[in-house]
Amino acid sequence: MAKVVVIGGGWAGVAAAITAKKAGAEVTVIERTDILLGLGNVGGIMRNNGRYTATEECILLGGKELFNVTDKASRHVNIDFPGHKHASLYDVCKVEPMVRRLLIEMDIQILLRSRAIDVDVVDNAIKGIVLQNGDVIEGDVFIETTGSTGPMGNCLKYGNGCSMCILRCPSFGPRVSISQKAGVEDLVGKRKDGSYGAFSGSCKLNKDSLSQEIIDQLNKKGVVILPVPKKDINTKKLDMKVCQQYALKEYAENLILLDTGHAKLMAPFYPLEKLRQFKGLENARYEDPYAGGVGNSIRYLSIAPRDNTMKVEKLDNLLCAGEKAGLFVGHTDECNPKVRQLGLLDFILFTSPQKNLYSTMISIPCNFIN
Ligand SMILES: Cc1cc2nc3c(=O)[nH]c(=O)nc-3n(C[C@H](O)[C@H](O)[C@H](O)COP(=O)(O)OP(=O)(O)OC[C@H]3O[C@@H](n4cnc5c(N)ncnc54)[C@H](O)[C@@H]3O)c2cc1C
Repeated sequence: MAKVVVIGGGWAGVAAAITAKKAGAEVTVIERTDILLGLGNVGGIMRNNGRYTATEECILLGGKELFNVTDKASRHVNIDFPGHKHASLYDVCKVEPMVRRLLIEMDIQILLRSRAIDVDVVDNAIKGIVLQNGDVIEGDVFIETTGSTGPMGNCLKYGNGCSMCILRCPSFGPRVSISQKAGVEDLVGKRKDGSYGAFSGSCKLNKDSLSQEIIDQLNKKGVVILPVPKKDINTKKLDMKVCQQYALKEYAENLILLDTGHAKLMAPFYPLEKLRQFKGLENARYEDPYAGGVGNSIRYLSIAPRDNTMKVEKLDNLLCAGEKAGLFVGHTDECNPKVRQLGLLDFILFTSPQKNLYSTMISIPCNFIN
């Protein structure tokens, strides 16, 4: 049985692990923090606009597992908010244990608090991943899904400092780009003004810190829209966002809150003293990032050059997915690469004899091209 090692346990890593397992591999997921899902623990919006179709397509193509979980964990379904129709909002406080149980039931090995710090490469093929504690995790195929956020130095350099986000670099150690460690230069995303990276586009407010009226409306409708005073409207801030689908003028003219268990504030950051001037937000406090009043995490700083089979250039047995594989901006996109990889993994695990594994990976096309 071929052994597949996934580095990074966010949505993309979890999706890749499930795909590999269904294709018949023995699978290990390496995650540096103490929980799975990475940025998926602060998201929540699913099935909005074209993502509805993408989700249904992915389910029909055989990738139903994670969408079943996000549907089941949804607090609201079929809701509209500016620029978006028929969205669902999963509960960010409940979804991670559900995904973890799914992986355990599927007999996927999860190594938490296991930070990858280096790679062992021989003749363009990775032999093993070196963990911070000195252990080496060997495998036949490696899938890198470490995202594009961090290390902390990037947020300090290209953002407004470490805003203490869900990735918790100071406690668990910074993110490491595995492809870069293996000698392949990362690609970097740029903003309109030429500066590097992009701000994560939303924050979470602790729901209990909001007025009862706002809490009730969030629980009932899923959405609260509060007009921003004219003097405070700042449309320039929209260009900083990762998710340009939310960079509409309505998001500068209003504070838009969505109920994802906490209150998701659809702005990259917002000064706390100004936030507290809104009726109902007098006692508001940030849940994530902790310093959401001044900044947010910076993403898109580390993308692996790859082909359409998701194989990283110059390396025979390293695939990538999720944000590490391109300027993807959402959970649906991260779950989709599992479908793209399906063609490749099926081929490797069922059609090729183990001894031909590496050469086979270079030459085959993938059925599902992004
Ligand atoms: C604030 C915010 C709100 C968002 N809201 C939404 C939303 O509502 N809807 C939506 O569709 N999308 C949303 N997104 C985008 C979405 O969350 C991301 O695009 C997606 O979750 C990225 O998944 P990923 O698996 O590629 O990367 P990540 O989630 O970044 O996962 C990478 C994982 O790799 C781990 N890792 C990194 N380095 C190492 C290492 N060396 N060793 C071991 N593990 C390592 C990290 O700890 C992390 O768990 C949001 C993003 C943010 C930041």
